[in-house]
Amino acid sequence: SLKKQPFPWFGLDIGGTLVKLVYFEPLFLTPDEEKKEEESLKQIRKYLTSNTAYGTTGVRDTHLELKNIDLEGYKGNLHFIRFPTDQMEVFMKMVIEKQFATLIDTFQATGGGSYKFEEKFHSEINVHLNKLDELVCLIKGINFVDRHSDMNGESECFSIQNPSLGNDQIVKEPFDFRNPYPYVAVNIGSGVSIMLVNSENDFSRITGTSLGGGTFFGLCCLLTKCKTFDDAIELATHGDSTKVDKLVSDIYGESGYTKFGLAGSVVASSFGKMNSAEHREQATRQDIAKALLVTITNNIGSLAINAAIQHGVERIVFVGNFLRVNPISMRLLAYAMHYWSNGSQKALFLEHEGYFGAVGALLGNVC
Ligand code: ADP
Repeated sequence: SLKKQPFPWFGLDIGGTLVKLVYFEPLFLTPDEEKKEEESLKQIRKYLTSNTAYGTTGVRDTHLELKNIDLEGYKGNLHFIRFPTDQMEVFMKMVIEKQFATLIDTFQATGGGSYKFEEKFHSEINVHLNKLDELVCLIKGINFVDRHSDMNGESECFSIQNPSLGNDQIVKEPFDFRNPYPYVAVNIGSGVSIMLVNSENDFSRITGTSLGGGTFFGLCCLLTKCKTFDDAIELATHGDSTKVDKLVSDIYGESGYTKFGLAGSVVASSFGKMNSAEHREQATRQDIAKALLVTITNNIGSLAINAAIQHGVERIVFVGNFLRVNPISMRLLAYAMHYWSNGSQKALFLEHEGYFGAVGALLGNVC
């Protein structure tokens, strides 16, 4: 169990695109524990907590830090760090350089990469990966963070006020997630997994799609030559997807398809205008990025709402790093859940969006 493990306590989630690393920084060690804290352990603590960037690609999300939480009898701060999975070599080098490996013989790890990189960790830096199931970790992590998060007085879980208002700013409305079951969890990472969660120990994966965050980012790189996810979102923020998509009104005229209640503004065919040279010329990089974001988001929304309706569940919780810095998709999902269920289903979001698997890994098998 975690308790028996000596410090440092880490949780690692090695995903298809990003590695999420959660680090527990113990506070108020007893004098005895202080004395026992080896110099190299102090160095690790100092290195991780005094920097906000590691190498050129590692980032600590300081706004997500959970201060002064209780974990297995210790008080401490929980830190949230991420870096691209294709930089794993750099991470391993750091583990060696900063002498992590002299203290750690096992990382609690989840995500597909805990399988893919297991052998490499072992042979190159002599660290074992204790592989934990990613859905188990995700659900555990959600539970733990919701209970321990006091986002400076703000709620970890929130819904979105008036999602039908077009502007991209969102107003968060706190949601009490203490008794959430049953809910549908939609994890939008590189791909998408949709789970039915009946209780902390009773859940299953019900569906998913390969058209996920990786698809948005990949296609956006191809079509707009953008370099980073943050740039892709920035482009989309200034785009108009109706220059790219074919709307019902483009086919029926302004009245729409009234017989079946399809308004003219509804998308009839995503990217449907792009077969025309004239429309291609008019569409900017921004327009294309926005259309991609809307296409991918609405497709996920449609799967999510169907899953929720099929299982008679009212709460749909969206997580995963696709939602990072992405209020456009949050608003679209909130609107779609409300609209397609006539108001009976609610889209919920969590502040620590992509980190729950890593938190679950940190908790290991104890909580
Ligand atoms: P995975 O576990 O599959 O890596 P994540 O939940 O970490 O999944 O989400 C990965 C997705 O998050 C990417 O496909 C992309 O859409 C989005 N994303 C958000 N921030 C970044 C970033 N800094 N770099 C790359 N992708 C990002």
